[in-house]
Parts: sequence; structure tokens; C-alpha cells
Amino acid sequence: MTIFRTARGMRDFLPEGAKMMKYIEGKARRVAQLYGYKEIITPVVESYELLAAKAGEEVRSRMYAFKDLGGRKVALRPEFTASVARLVATTLRNEPKPLRLFCVGSLYRYDEPQKGRFREFWQSNYELMGSSKPEGDAEIIMLTNSLMKSVGLKNCVFKVGHVGVLRGILSQENVEEQVQNEIMQLMDKKQYEATLKLVEDAGTSKCLATLKKLMETKGSKVSQILKTMEQQVEGYERAVDAVGNLREILKLVSETGEKIDMIVEAGFARGLEYYTGMIFEVYVPEMDISLGGGGRYDRLIELFGGEPTPAVGVAHGIDRIMMAMQKQKTSLRIEEEKRVMIIPVKEELNREALKISRMLREAGIPVEIEVMGRKMSKALEDADRRNIDYAIIVGEKELKNGAVVIRNLRKREQKTVKIENIIETIKGNKL
Ligand code: AMP
Repeated sequence: MTIFRTARGMRDFLPEGAKMMKYIEGKARRVAQLYGYKEIITPVVESYELLAAKAGEEVRSRMYAFKDLGGRKVALRPEFTASVARLVATTLRNEPKPLRLFCVGSLYRYDEPQKGRFREFWQSNYELMGSSKPEGDAEIIMLTNSLMKSVGLKNCVFKVGHVGVLRGILSQENVEEQVQNEIMQLMDKKQYEATLKLVEDAGTSKCLATLKKLMETKGSKVSQILKTMEQQVEGYERAVDAVGNLREILKLVSETGEKIDMIVEAGFARGLEYYTGMIFEVYVPEMDISLGGGGRYDRLIELFGGEPTPAVGVAHGIDRIMMAMQKQKTSLRIEEEKRVMIIPVKEELNREALKISRMLREAGIPVEIEVMGRKMSKALEDADRRNIDYAIIVGEKELKNGAVVIRNLRKREQKTVKIENIIETIKGNKL
């Protein structure tokens, strides 16, 4: 007989893991509320063309793409931004700006499964549409920091850069956009030698020395690095503007008073092609893969036929945040509710047991009913094993007096309680 397993690269989340994923999702949703982002739900399946338009070769080549039964070329979404941009270019076209939108859900990339890289993974995604101001970029960084803090992660480091620096230089050297994209892909993978060769092949050796210097320029002394960058890109007007823009954004972040560890990296690039401005990723020291990443993309909505709409956004990997929490041994701050199991002493009392369970659930108390027909001692053992707090034993003798026995499984104490007093006994911790 065939034994079925998950498809390669796919995972099941058992109750503990699922609880953690949902906990992080809840925190992400709370951050969305705190910053005024409205939640939307978009489809997992989108047209291939939309998803492929600006995703970048890396993501494009790893899409779960297929023809649906109607012969349309579709794909499972590898990211959220394309879907949100589609909405803003169409249905939400005339909505007043700014638009702050939040979504959370699963994404699909046919990556080689490895630590922290899955074929199905989850993100919380925030997009701020309509503002080109550095305050928008600063907000996205702040919000990411808020999420990391709210799940209890420590020592987060933000790696920050600006695609306008490299693209500014390459544009001024008349490097075609397609070649620029390839260069950015190589930079993203830190293949610096190959990058320089590609630039040389593009016939622009003039900027090679500048690029080389930029690749080596990074560090945590933000103003010093920015100053060095400014000197290095001298004469490349758009690159100078880009450094100025980055300086403004980081100044706004630091002026909030929040202490955020930053590393500015002049040669930093991200895999997605649509970025036009500041880009960033967030890390914890225990892991060398990013927990989240984002940046500014001012031309995507136009590309999808919408009004010119500047935008900035971020996506956080919920799976990876969970891994980081496990590594840092972060405990979940969940208020555990008291759980109850109702055990009828014999089958004829099932109806009473059901009635009591309904009463308790209406009062907001989680209740499980013994459904295996076990003897009392076995049923209590089972309840204990499941970490149930109280067993309610429904017996004939007590019922005659309108009562049941409540047993505190932790303290191993019990007493007889009138049915009308069960809720008060449990909620008031009176046993
Ligand atoms: P991206 O959409 O590539 O900008 O990635 C944003 C974040 O999503 C990353 O920082 C990761 O936390 C997460 N992420 C991206 N790809 C994967 C993957 N294959 N598996 C798990 N998490 C991922």
C-alpha cells in the first residue's frame, strides 16, 4: 500500500508549530493595526504574466507555473507585492492616497529546500502606496522593528542600502535596463567578480573603479559610511541623490529615539527587479538568512497600467521568525485558558454531559468531552496526559442533587459542586 507523504519541500505544521505561526501572524496583524494598515486577502493563484512582470529572474524561474483547465497560464504567487500593485492599479485606482495595505498568507517558490528556505512559506506583507517621502520609507523600517520586538526577538540588525546608487551609476553610463537587472542579480548573490566582468562587457569600464570601491563600503557607523559613499559616487548625479535620500530616511528613523542597529551596505542589492530606492533586510545574529526584506518601488503600479504611484513595502518571513524565536528561546506570551474535560460515569449520562458542555462553552470555557467510552480512571489519566486543568465527572448520585464532581487535575483535589456553580468555580479558580 502506498504511504503518502507531503510533496517535496512542503511541510505539515503540528499543533505546537501551528500555534507559533498563528501567534506571529497575530502579532503582525496587531502591528498592522498600530500603524494603520488595512488587511486585504488576495488569491494564491494569479496570472503568470502579472507575477513574472517584475519579479526578477531568480524568482521568475522558480515559480509554480501551470496552465489551468481553461488553458490560461497561471502561477502560485511567489510574493504579495504584484497582487497588491494589481489592486492599486485597478480596483483601488481612485482611492485616496496614501493607501496602507496589509496581507498575510502562503507563498510558493520552487527553491531547493534547505535550512530556512521552503517551497511553501508564509509572509506578513505591508505596502504603503502613494507617498514618495522618506517618512514612508522610515515607517516601513520602524514597523519591521516593531514586529521583531513584539514577538520578543533580540539583537536585530538591519542591513540597508539604496538601489539608486548602483542603478544611478549604470544609467549614467548608458547600461541598458536588462543588463542592469542582470548586474543587480549578481550583486544580490555577492558574485562581485562576475558583476565587474559583466559591467566591463557592457562597455563601461569607466565606472569599474567606483563600483569596486562601493562593493567594499559597508559598516555600522552610518554617517561615516554615507559620507564615504557620497565621495565615491561623485559626478554621478542620481547616485549622489540616492545617498542623500538614504541619509534622510535613516536620520528620520534615528530621530524617533528608537535604537536600531544598522549596517549600511553600498553594494547591497535584492533579488526583485522592481525596487527603485531604499532597500533593507533584517537579521538576528543567530541566523545568516534574512527574516524580512523590503524597499521602495516607485514604478510598479504604472507598469501594471495604474496611475504613477510611488510605493514602499516590506515582507517578513513568518517561518523564519519562528526559527529565530526558537533559536533565541523566546517564549510565547499567550494567556493560557483553563481547559475542561467532561467525563460521564456511564453512557446514560451522556446527555447531561453534553448539556453541561454547552453551558460552559457559552460561558467561554474550552471543553472536551470524553468520547472513547473509557473507564473513569483511564479517562482521568488521558485528561492528565492532555494537560487538561479540570475534569468534570458526571455521576448519577451527584446529579440527583443537581451537582457534579469537579477535579483539579494539577492539584489532584476534588469537590462536589452544584451545576449552577460550575462556571464560577472554574473561572474564579475556586478549586
Ligand atoms: P522576498 O520576498 O524575497 O523579499 O523575501 C522576504 C522574506 O520572505 C525573506 O526575508 C524571508 O524571511 C522570507 N522568504 C523568502 N523566501 C523564502 C523561502 N523560500 N522560504 C522561507 N522564507 C522565505
